[in-house]
Amino acid sequence: MENKNPAPKKSGVGFTHLHVHSHYSLLDGLAKIDELLDRAKELGMDSLALTDHGVLYGAIEFYQKAKERGIKPIIGCEMYVAPNGLAMKRAKIDDVRHHLILLAKNEKGYKNLLQLVSIAHLEGFYYKPRIDKELLKKYSEGLIGLSACVEGEVPSLVLSGKMDEAEKSAREYESILGKGNFFLELQHHPKFANQKIANSGIIEISQRSGIPLVATTDMHYVHLADAPIQDILLCVQTNRKVSEQNRMNLMDFELYMRSPEKMLEDFADIPEAIENTMRVAEMCNLEIELGNIKLPRFEVPDGFTPETYLRKLCDVGLAERYG
Ligand SMILES: [Zn+2]
Ligand SMILES: [Zn+2]
Repeated sequence: MENKNPAPKKSGVGFTHLHVHSHYSLLDGLAKIDELLDRAKELGMDSLALTDHGVLYGAIEFYQKAKERGIKPIIGCEMYVAPNGLAMKRAKIDDVRHHLILLAKNEKGYKNLLQLVSIAHLEGFYYKPRIDKELLKKYSEGLIGLSACVEGEVPSLVLSGKMDEAEKSAREYESILGKGNFFLELQHHPKFANQKIANSGIIEISQRSGIPLVATTDMHYVHLADAPIQDILLCVQTNRKVSEQNRMNLMDFELYMRSPEKMLEDFADIPEAIENTMRVAEMCNLEIELGNIKLPRFEVPDGFTPETYLRKLCDVGLAERYG
């Protein structure tokens, strides 16, 4: 008899999606965490990253639900980098910002990611939560960086024809994160002409610098058929109508969860970019301790226990207030 629920087969192609948005990329990502993980399992992948824009809202949900399904969770974030420093907030100058994917390799990296995201919101916020390179230097341990979509610093410089500056930028990120911890991202969006230009520049920079390549999709929804719904989200975000012509539109990008086989086909001429996704996945081994309440440690003077010291402070306070 035919098995109605056969166990999903592991894909024969080793590939992991390392650039993934969920609905926690507000008014931008469409996919819910369960849908992402179920589809990854269906397609035979055994690890998956989550890299929402500027936030870690989905990190714990993703971590727990991935573990339940036997998928290795890779916790990350697509950060915004302020070119002139996170303190600068001048109109029409500092609203330019670059994207950067950061992934946690371990607990230290996860804690650094928490710091970066918190500081981005509390100190760097200007339209978006932003970090800068100085801050990244301080909290770089345990993190892997990817050069992001065409909004990343390296591809942006390539697209402005500044190849030397683009190479310098790639080397700078590599030196901040440490050799072997920075990858140049390639995406396959054939209907978007600039992607082709960015890719060829990035491949050249990889050859010049030895910085490895990695293939991603910049996933925003699970199935190709979801694209028009994501388009509506984008219209809500940017206050435009779906019927308007000159507006931000990602319909040409096909930002769905491509299967490992489709990714291999898309990058047939550069298979190392597919293989390197597994290299990155193997470098990320984060274990988050959950279920333990962690209270800060408070040192009490000699001769006291926390309880007797609290009692003493209460006695002093009582005398002060009521005599
Ligand atoms: Zn991006
Ligand atoms: Zn993205």
